[in-house]
Amino acid sequence: MAKHEFQTEVGQLLQLMTHSLYSNKEIFIRELVSNASDAIDKLEYLKLTDEKLKGIESTPQINIKIDEEDNSLTIVDNGIGMNEADLIASIGTIAKSGTKSFMENLTGDAKKDSNLIGQFGVGFYSVFMVADKVDVISKKAGEEQGFKWSSDGSGSFDLSPCVKEEHGTVIYIKLKEEEISEFVSKPRVETIVKKYSNHIAYPIFLIFDEEVTEELSEEDKKAGKEPKKSMENKREQANEATALWSQPKAKLKAEDYNEFYKTISHDSTDPMAYVHTRAEGVSEYTTLFYIPAIAPMDMYRVDYQPGVKLYVKKVFITDDEKELLPTYLRFVRGIIDSQDLPLNVSREILQENKIMANIKQSSVKKVLSEIKKLAKDEEKYKEFTAQYNRPLKEGVYQDHVNKDAILELVRYKSTNDTENMTSLAAYKDRADTEQKAIYYIIGDDEKVLRNSPLLESYKKNNIEVLILDDKEIDEVITPGIGSYKDWDLKDITSCEAPKTEQTEEEKKEVEEKFKSIVEKITGVLGAEVKEVKTTNRLSDSPSCVVKDANDPMAQMAQMMKAMGQEVPESAPILEINPDHEIVKALNGCSDDTMIENISWLLLDQAKMSEGMEIKDTVAFTKRLNTVMAKAF
Ligand code: ADP
Ligand code: MG
Repeated sequence: MAKHEFQTEVGQLLQLMTHSLYSNKEIFIRELVSNASDAIDKLEYLKLTDEKLKGIESTPQINIKIDEEDNSLTIVDNGIGMNEADLIASIGTIAKSGTKSFMENLTGDAKKDSNLIGQFGVGFYSVFMVADKVDVISKKAGEEQGFKWSSDGSGSFDLSPCVKEEHGTVIYIKLKEEEISEFVSKPRVETIVKKYSNHIAYPIFLIFDEEVTEELSEEDKKAGKEPKKSMENKREQANEATALWSQPKAKLKAEDYNEFYKTISHDSTDPMAYVHTRAEGVSEYTTLFYIPAIAPMDMYRVDYQPGVKLYVKKVFITDDEKELLPTYLRFVRGIIDSQDLPLNVSREILQENKIMANIKQSSVKKVLSEIKKLAKDEEKYKEFTAQYNRPLKEGVYQDHVNKDAILELVRYKSTNDTENMTSLAAYKDRADTEQKAIYYIIGDDEKVLRNSPLLESYKKNNIEVLILDDKEIDEVITPGIGSYKDWDLKDITSCEAPKTEQTEEEKKEVEEKFKSIVEKITGVLGAEVKEVKTTNRLSDSPSCVVKDANDPMAQMAQMMKAMGQEVPESAPILEINPDHEIVKALNGCSDDTMIENISWLLLDQAKMSEGMEIKDTVAFTKRLNTVMAKAF
């Protein structure tokens, strides 16, 4: 027998399981049954596709033995099973990043944290919430040797060869003293199985002893004979064992859908929405998609677990295929079951297969139209937006076919309202029809954006501006949108100021009047600015910085950013407000030192109001102090 130490993280996790995650212990049954079902799925698939395993004859089933004398539960499956290496890899070390990110995501709230268990693929360990000791006895299909793994959940496990007749896995759970009364109970286990595993595709049998009372004959009864009581071993099926998605919609209730969601997602909260579709005709398939109420924890990880399982004629094929839906819909959970795909579909076939492409396309349309339905209920849609606005924005960029539909679903912060977000449609409805453009500003701080001097003229003219404060993604995606229903989307940091009453002549006059000071400022700031000019977009602020929309370098930089490359910021254009006191006074100033100080201060404050970094903070402070001293 060999003793193995658990990886540190597993040890930590077990520590956590046994001591903190006590509020929802019953889920260990769900987790073990789900593993058993996964193991049978794998074998059923191999029985159809793998020459070596084609001969295996077994009727898929899961048995749960409730032993009142031994105070134990035993969960038995005849699935694929595990050999020595599998046991070490799957339930000794953690090959995937699951455990680590699970630990990082813990909130300290036991109830919330226990909901995370399944999501991170660390379900098996949940058994240590209730177990003093666990034995896993397993034999891999097609192999000779069985193995026994056992552990009390405290830092190490033993592993040794053993004899096992049938392929599959037996999980023997010796319950903790304080858990016996709850879980060594047939009605309790039955309730849990019905609650979480009713639509697992395989039958789950409960095996238990029940006291039976002897039937007495009329004579014996008359003679006053006591009926004999004895224990009898019974076996009862506890679940429906039908693939839920293959049932007619009319037969299913919201409750059924919600419970099934929990079995496939390991989430314990009801989903926000679901959509169940059966397509018949050229291509025959069923899809059932769910939108989780809370976004999956790994939604922003590159190594996220895809949430859609692929079946072919109810045979499980894969749950690890990211191509089933586009990445921007990676939060969707559910099932695709095709009647037409070959059982031995490989990843390559999937990616090039016409049938699959067709299913994928209509699946996307289904999900999007379900989201559109959600959008009709403003309150509900707020919840959706809070979770999924960002992936939808990715969709605008990724999915050219559905771009218009997705644009209707994305929501934006706006100067129109500080509380509620707006759709582009609502923006357009509110706007003056003469406007013909949708204005936006991008940055990473909502407050800075809302206070940007660049908004002044828009406020004055009553023009709404979208506040895009998710810079990382908005900067990449928004310029590519182009237009929404004939209205161009315009970045206010690089477009002309909106309508003004100023005539061309008046504009020329102002330029002429400030020509010499503009030249002086340009001289002082040198390469720090691309250009200096007077503007009519400001009212309260003396200056602002903008980008040059026609600069080919800027467009290049935009493309590089979109490809994920770092690009140096190009020098901005400094615009000064000819109606502002400071600028007016500066225009008449002949003190060169003063002009130099004020020029830098105008640039630096303009940059700061846009949340940009200034070049030299020490010099800024010095200049500010000099000017303040002068003021007295
Ligand atoms: P997940 O099911 O999300 O992978 P678990 O912690 O529940 O995470 O299980 C870890 C792994 O252990 C599984 O992926 C599987 O490889 C293996 N495993 C667990 N239970 C069984 C079983 N009954 N039969 C075969 N393999 C199993
Ligand atoms: Mg599992």
